[in-house]
Amino acid sequence: MRKWIGLLLGFLMMLPLGAQLVPEELVCKEHQQFQNQLSRRNNSGVKHGYLIDYNRCKWWVNPIRGPYFKGDVMAHFTVNANTDSVGFDLSANLKVDGVYGAGGQSLLYRRNGNQLYVFKVGGWLGGSRDSVGIIYQGNPSNGGGFGYFVHDNHMKGPIVHTLSEPYGAQYWWPCKQTLHDKIDSLDVWVYTDTSLKAASNGVVVRNEVLNDTQRLMVWKHRYPIATYLVAIAVTNYSEYTQYAPLVGRTKPLPVLNYVFPQFRTDAERETKDVLPMIRLFDSLFVPYPFEKEKYGHAQFTWGGGMEHQTMSFMVNFSYDLMAHELAHQWFGDMVTCGTWQDLWLNEGFATYLTVMTTEFLRSKEESYGKLRGMRSNITGNDGGSVFPKDTLNVGSLFNGRLTYNKGAWLLHMLRDKLGDSAFFEGCRLYLNGKNTRHGFAKTADLAWYMEKASGRNLDTFFQQWYYGEGFPYLKINWKQKGKTVTLACEQTPSHNSVPYWHVRIPLLLRGEGKEKLVLWEPKQLVGELKLLVDFEVDTVIFDPFVKLLAKVSIGGMNLNKVQENAFVLFPNPTAGSFVLYARNPSAIVMEVFDAVGQKVMDIDTKGNVTKQLTVSLGELSAGPYFLRINDGNFVYSYKLLKS
Ligand SMILES: [Zn+2]
Repeated sequence: MRKWIGLLLGFLMMLPLGAQLVPEELVCKEHQQFQNQLSRRNNSGVKHGYLIDYNRCKWWVNPIRGPYFKGDVMAHFTVNANTDSVGFDLSANLKVDGVYGAGGQSLLYRRNGNQLYVFKVGGWLGGSRDSVGIIYQGNPSNGGGFGYFVHDNHMKGPIVHTLSEPYGAQYWWPCKQTLHDKIDSLDVWVYTDTSLKAASNGVVVRNEVLNDTQRLMVWKHRYPIATYLVAIAVTNYSEYTQYAPLVGRTKPLPVLNYVFPQFRTDAERETKDVLPMIRLFDSLFVPYPFEKEKYGHAQFTWGGGMEHQTMSFMVNFSYDLMAHELAHQWFGDMVTCGTWQDLWLNEGFATYLTVMTTEFLRSKEESYGKLRGMRSNITGNDGGSVFPKDTLNVGSLFNGRLTYNKGAWLLHMLRDKLGDSAFFEGCRLYLNGKNTRHGFAKTADLAWYMEKASGRNLDTFFQQWYYGEGFPYLKINWKQKGKTVTLACEQTPSHNSVPYWHVRIPLLLRGEGKEKLVLWEPKQLVGELKLLVDFEVDTVIFDPFVKLLAKVSIGGMNLNKVQENAFVLFPNPTAGSFVLYARNPSAIVMEVFDAVGQKVMDIDTKGNVTKQLTVSLGELSAGPYFLRINDGNFVYSYKLLKS
């Protein structure tokens, strides 16, 4: 799932015309709804008593008339142990008209809040297979509230759409709401107005006008599916199919798009971008998980995207949103988080795969920009772990900074630590695992597969980056004397849950048109490293390839140069500030002039007589400047470039 609000900061410039921004309050409302439901945590409280094999769902939905709808949902299941009842999750707000058995006979049932128990004379034997049908109706907006079953309007027509994650399925259908058991096979029948179409999971096997007022669409899905990923959307869709060629296959994958008719032209242009993304994930990881059926998009009015299996629901077709929801087909849908504490396995991967899409299909530089943006978001606050300590706390569970961004950065650093070959092999093992493939996974599963692929112990890595809060602050200093460069690092953990961060610090030494990359793992909070360098260093750049989640200050000087010059400026070029080193400290007057000799700034040294002084260039725009220093005896002029 991806809320549009999360896209605002970084990608405002990429909004297509006509996109609607979602106000903060919508997210708050959504959170409030989650808040009410999360108290159920990972178990709804219903004693289901069976493994679910198959659901046949019939829904009578007509958004032209309103949200009121009827349902007839049949569940086929295998009973766990001898029992006199089987249980379902179903909102108390929906009215049950009857419950029937495999032969059509009426069965007794009892309701208890959002729980529904069905009884059979003689009960069920453990291991036996049976089915139960539940006929019901209601206005789900009274019960499910925001998000789960929405009746809305997209300007050119009314729409009904569902979004069950995390606990909403029971608000519109009688189900087994769980993260332990997937529905092995699903058929969705939607009866609606002849002018409308219904989008759902799998492929359309029937689309018939039954009479003057009614159309029936039947969707068939033959892959295991988590309950919260079952969805329908019904409106006056305009439909088209595009095709994604897949490496090593003769048949391309159909990508079915159901879009609002007014967006058809734009959508057809924009959704083309998802085709190379499918090919990319399919070849980087494992084949597209639902290849015998399809991938698709159905437009809806919720402010974001939701990865419904084989048919993501989308507010629009922006590049990153398409990449995110597509990535979920592997990470989230085929392999689903096994508890809500493991939600980052869905969202961290989807967020990171969006960065990878940029890296592989656009440019590395652009992907660095995304990673830097996420890093500054994460380090904007000293605390917080990828592991949500309290699933009751919605801010902590569906947290863009932690579950999404820090989860993605965890994977990014894991990839750097293991190398591409072991990292992608670990991903493939995780996706193909005996229990994870078309099943559920926990964080320990991912760690296990990554250890298997790399032969390395990842306890410390997961301990600090998954459970630990915050990140390291690194204060780095460097100096060069002769050919020896001395690096000094002082680490301060941002949060006391991690007393010391085991990190590898990438530093790029640059000067005389040469450069040298140093990867340094200090062994304690304060560390020093000496190395021989065969050129005069004038700049040291932290993490040029954006590999480490840390907040860094860096300073230093080349003592060889200070011997020659009265003053030395580092770094130069500079993004905002530089350090001035004085060979002979004295009171000085400093001024900055632009390229045409206009004075643009007086620098107040506050009478400081010091060996080194940090100077900020404040609001000056990027470009070349001259720094003039008067020490009372001489006037010195230095070229300065603001980048
Ligand atoms: Zn997501």
